Amino acid sequence: MLLRHTPKEITERKALTINPAKTCQPIGAMYAALGVHGCLPHSHGSQGCCAYHRSALTRHYKEPVSASTSSFTEGASVFGGQANMLQAINNIFTVYNPEVIAVHTTCLSETIGDDLPQIKKKAETEGKIPAGKHVISASTPSYSGSHVTGFSNMVKAMADMAEPTGKKNGKVNIIPGWVEPADMEEIKRLTSMVGVQTILFPDTSGVLNGPLSGEYKMFPDGGTTVAELKSSGDSIGTLALGEWCSADAARFLDKAHKVPCSVLDMPFGLKATDRFIDALRTVAGVTVPDELSMERGQLVDLISDMHQYFYKKKVALAGDPDQLIAMTEFLVSIDMCPVHIVTGTPGKKFEKRIREITKDMGCEVNVKAKGDLFQLHQWIKNEPVDLLICNTYGKYIARDEDIPLVRWGFPILDRQGHQYFPTVGYKGGLRLLEKILGVIMDRKDRDDPEETFELVL
Ligand code: SF4
Repeated sequence: MLLRHTPKEITERKALTINPAKTCQPIGAMYAALGVHGCLPHSHGSQGCCAYHRSALTRHYKEPVSASTSSFTEGASVFGGQANMLQAINNIFTVYNPEVIAVHTTCLSETIGDDLPQIKKKAETEGKIPAGKHVISASTPSYSGSHVTGFSNMVKAMADMAEPTGKKNGKVNIIPGWVEPADMEEIKRLTSMVGVQTILFPDTSGVLNGPLSGEYKMFPDGGTTVAELKSSGDSIGTLALGEWCSADAARFLDKAHKVPCSVLDMPFGLKATDRFIDALRTVAGVTVPDELSMERGQLVDLISDMHQYFYKKKVALAGDPDQLIAMTEFLVSIDMCPVHIVTGTPGKKFEKRIREITKDMGCEVNVKAKGDLFQLHQWIKNEPVDLLICNTYGKYIARDEDIPLVRWGFPILDRQGHQYFPTVGYKGGLRLLEKILGVIMDRKDRDDPEETFELVL
């Protein structure tokens, strides 16, 4: 009963967040950077920030996460971090020899006002960046936005590596957004089934869900290559999956290099996956293969089998905007009622989009961007739900209110395996349904009196 002091009565709060539904920008920038092959994320700030970001990612993905830091001390805090950054670039290329250093700022370097593009120029002038190597950078102040904003900013910096040749490469850029490595793998499987050649960036598959081979590789085999990023400016189009995570990079490629883009929802659930497959089919001018129609049919079959248990069940959700939008649509499509929805990431259009998706659901919806888990808990106290879908931090609410919990999103610190099992696409939809029904039925088995305790349902 860790949250037993959460009051049922809701009073207005303006300048106080309790139990945030987000984390800090550089974590997103670091995760994105790990999706580039041979890239070392670099945290421009103090060691504590870098240690926290690395450990947050390691605890979720259960893999070692390498990153370097500018190691600010009192001197850098007063005079700026340029000297530390220049020294770091020199050391990193000399000692670790990455293809790319992906630098993100922290609260401290942002407050000082360090100008990363200017520092990069100085490093080039001083010959600290070896030929053929790259330094990219993103501004990620944590006192605004969230880990989602940081992810998006770093992905935009990747798009800035595009070097169009003027000759189209026949490929489609896919920006998957912040999804699990297994989801990125699944997106690649779907695109290859449809027969579309793609450049997926970032791509953490094979990096944060790689095999245990007995040999440590500082730069694992996976990740989008620098050559692919350069070629992204020659692609025939870009599909950005998620307005918050991926749209900025896609629009940049559209504006700077005339690579037309479509911004779609993340392909969680039946409808969003349909739209993704349809967009792939359209942009590449191909037809959908029978195997994929078969997968879709299996998902439809499972939905109809399980529907009786989902009907009108109330759900509370917390997480990141792109994921929540697709998940809410999926839940509504199977006749569940997502009634409380919170994201810690700012953006009023999130609330608007959720209201559109839920408008015909037939019940009131509480939705808040830049909200927190305290608020979600209070809503649940006032209107109880049958299911909570949230990251690990939801377990406190689930325990206090005795609600079945499906762990989904970032971070998941107290369970394993999420990096290996996709939840995108039709196959991912099967997994989501199985997880949801599993916890609902476990609860029923626990609570049913003996005379209604059934072996077969
Ligand atoms: S100081 Fe800022 S960047 Fe560093 S860990 Fe805290 S919120 Fe994140």
